[in-house]
Amino acid sequence: MRKQMAAANWKMNLTYQQATALLQTIISTDITLKENHAVVFAVPFPYLEMAIDTVQHRKNFFISAQNCSDRKSGAYTGEVSTEILKSIDVNFCLVGHSERREYFGESNLMLADKLNLCLASGITPIFCCGEALGTREQNQQNNYVEQQLRESLFHLSREEILKIVIAYEPIWAIGTGKTASTAQAQEMHAFIRSSLKNQYDAAIADQISILYGGSVKAANAKEIFGSKDVDGGLVGGASLNAAEFIEIIKALK
Ligand code: PEP
Repeated sequence: MRKQMAAANWKMNLTYQQATALLQTIISTDITLKENHAVVFAVPFPYLEMAIDTVQHRKNFFISAQNCSDRKSGAYTGEVSTEILKSIDVNFCLVGHSERREYFGESNLMLADKLNLCLASGITPIFCCGEALGTREQNQQNNYVEQQLRESLFHLSREEILKIVIAYEPIWAIGTGKTASTAQAQEMHAFIRSSLKNQYDAAIADQISILYGGSVKAANAKEIFGSKDVDGGLVGGASLNAAEFIEIIKALK
């Protein structure tokens, strides 16, 4: 059974005090989770240890970094390696968020290196992909996303690809209040799954969780997560509000 995930991406928001209070509120709320549910918080680097300590007694709750270096170790001032993350028990890492691609020039090939390093360190990467508005207007979204998968993911072995989570995040829906329609999300998720099937096989494609990201909120989560190939969401803005994010968690299938 595929994992169904509600993943919060706090980005560069919240003070330490606000972050601590938000996490405490969420984890002290009684939310019934199924065995295959996972709740993940991608927090700023300085909050990782606090967040890990806070959720450690809650089964199904995990902490993620928002980024990692594409270098293993050494003289790279300001970078954080997957080995450093693993040494404090970070479980997940976002790789290739569209903001990293756009503002920090991260290419598909660089992301392939980051994925390799995550896997070598035993960290589950949440690999983000998705097209810009212009690409969708030209109906090129499938080709675009397939190239992202091919250049960043498809060198992975069968064992390795099973350790990846994919997040489809159409750039035009991130932080804009616009969501892909349920049909658009399901169509792309099915396309990603069929690409995985072509590259690997149906059994592998069927086991990989594919999250949707782009203006998910309490009011639309249930409908979006209800689609056959959508296994939960990666949530930015709405994850900064405890009540909103709790409802999003409750919307998991
Ligand atoms: C994101 O940052 O991954 C995201 C989906 O943001 P938002 O939910 O705010 O659109």
